[in-house]
Amino acid sequence: MEPLDRSTIWPYQEGEPCELYYQRYAHPNGLAAERTLAELEGGEALLFPSGAGATTALVLGLLEPGQTIALAEGSYYGTASLFAALERWGVRFVEFDQTKAPPAEADLVWLEAPSNPFLTMPDFDAAAAHPARVVIDSTAATPVYVRPLERGADFALHSATKFLGGHHDVLLGAIACRSADDAARLRDFRGRTGIVAAPDPCWLLSRSLKTLPLRMERHTAGATEIAERLGAHRSVQVVRYPGFGGLLSFDVADGEAALKVETSLERIKNATSLGGVDSVLESRARWEGVRVPPGLLRLSVGLEDPDDLWADLKRALEKT
Ligand code: PLP
Repeated sequence: MEPLDRSTIWPYQEGEPCELYYQRYAHPNGLAAERTLAELEGGEALLFPSGAGATTALVLGLLEPGQTIALAEGSYYGTASLFAALERWGVRFVEFDQTKAPPAEADLVWLEAPSNPFLTMPDFDAAAAHPARVVIDSTAATPVYVRPLERGADFALHSATKFLGGHHDVLLGAIACRSADDAARLRDFRGRTGIVAAPDPCWLLSRSLKTLPLRMERHTAGATEIAERLGAHRSVQVVRYPGFGGLLSFDVADGEAALKVETSLERIKNATSLGGVDSVLESRARWEGVRVPPGLLRLSVGLEDPDDLWADLKRALEKT
């Protein structure tokens, strides 16, 4: 693995800047992690300081004022809230059901495969048939299960903070681009605006990507087991799980029951985020309000023994 290099400058050779000369434009640990991601996704990969930073760079770098984004409804609420903040710059957004065709008016189609926290999958073919460019946020699937560029998307976007980083110790975003022109435009915009990832998290990401397929296999095994057991529990009204990855959500009766589960867990952390080796659970109504049912609990199944996780969940559910 590349050693960690925190240099911000590299000397010119014979009075000429080389590939590396100033950290804002490129640095060795960023380039190394981007090469690995490009192999996993296909296309050209670029890193950003967070998933939200990647989203901001893509929208501001590629769209014009007056253009419209069609966003999958029920996807990560932070993306809708970020688009709302960007409306001041003249970029509009509308929400639509991603299991159907995107609206004709869209200049950019934004999907999630699967969506967080509803775990729906988009209609890939309907999106690919739309004339606009298509972004697929595949944070919860990772390229182990969904490779957006092979499904007709122009961009695969990740909060690499989640499964790609995998250990709750990295904040990063990533975009894989189908077209070299789009990648060049985004790279130029990233360097000018300074929406850049630092060397330390990039080094941690390279470490994490070595175990990605193994971790995802184990996340899937654990989540499949837990989804099945949740589905058979009398206090659980509905379980949403796409059949792969570590993310699922389920509903208990109401907000009070959800809080009871959150505060009764001993092993599973009551915390936000997802995709790490440790399981975390939280009520999403806390953040998303009426966008989600009051009893919706989002669970990111980690790498622990599923029997231990189920014992913890069952004990918490019995208290509702
Ligand atoms: N996309 C999805 C699906 C997410 O779940 C998140 C964060 O929760 C983001 C994007 C934003 O990523 P970050 O928190 O790294 O900025």
